[in-house]
Amino acid sequence: MDFDTTLAEGWVRAIAAAVEEEQQRLTELDSAIGDGDHGSNLQRGFAAVQAALDGLDPAGPGAVLTRTGTTLISKVGGASGPLYGKAFRALGAALPGPAGPAEFAEALAAGLRAVQDLGKAEPGDKTIVDAWTPAVAAFRAAAQAGADLPEAAGAAAAAAEQGALDTVPLQARKGRASYLGPRSVGHQDPGATSTALLFRALAEVTAPDGTQGVS
Ligand code: ADP
Ligand code: MG
Repeated sequence: MDFDTTLAEGWVRAIAAAVEEEQQRLTELDSAIGDGDHGSNLQRGFAAVQAALDGLDPAGPGAVLTRTGTTLISKVGGASGPLYGKAFRALGAALPGPAGPAEFAEALAAGLRAVQDLGKAEPGDKTIVDAWTPAVAAFRAAAQAGADLPEAAGAAAAAAEQGALDTVPLQARKGRASYLGPRSVGHQDPGATSTALLFRALAEVTAPDGTQGVS
């Protein structure tokens, strides 16, 4: 199975559904160490993305992801809009046509580089990077070991979820939460949490029917 246009659109719509469902939780996390808008920022952004995709006749998976990124940049005012926007634009540029696991791993790495180029965060700074970095590593390792797309995506989702959990003891060094200094310790980072949703959505849309979560 390749990551093609249908899967790209399915992925983005699955992210939109997950964001809708988890909006409250993301907002609660952001209320603790930020300004409480992460859930609504992403909800608004991905609602606009879905509307943008409705009118799109994409030439390939990359066209879907590039449009996603462009829409997030234009619709989301918070830090997460430009960061996720650039990430999706980088993914889009890396995936002009259908891609297998190895190529998709490199696209994910390009997405991470885009987040870091813009936001200058390193692993351990309590950001999106703390979930995206282990997800890329897990996806790449699985692909190199011969895993197919669903297996690699499942490994990436688990790694992103662990990465998000692992932000709890960290002190924020980037973004709004860094203003709290040591008081940011003890809370899960909202952006790392939404990144875990994004990778879980990828695992869900690539999974053959009914196998998700079973392995
Ligand atoms: P804002 O902080 O502008 O209100 P959001 O609430 O939508 O924007 O997003 C907050 C999340 O953005 C944080 O939880 C963090 O994960 C992420 N973030 C903030 N700054 C950076 C950065 N420089 N690099 C990576 N991620 C960041
Ligand atoms: Mg916020």
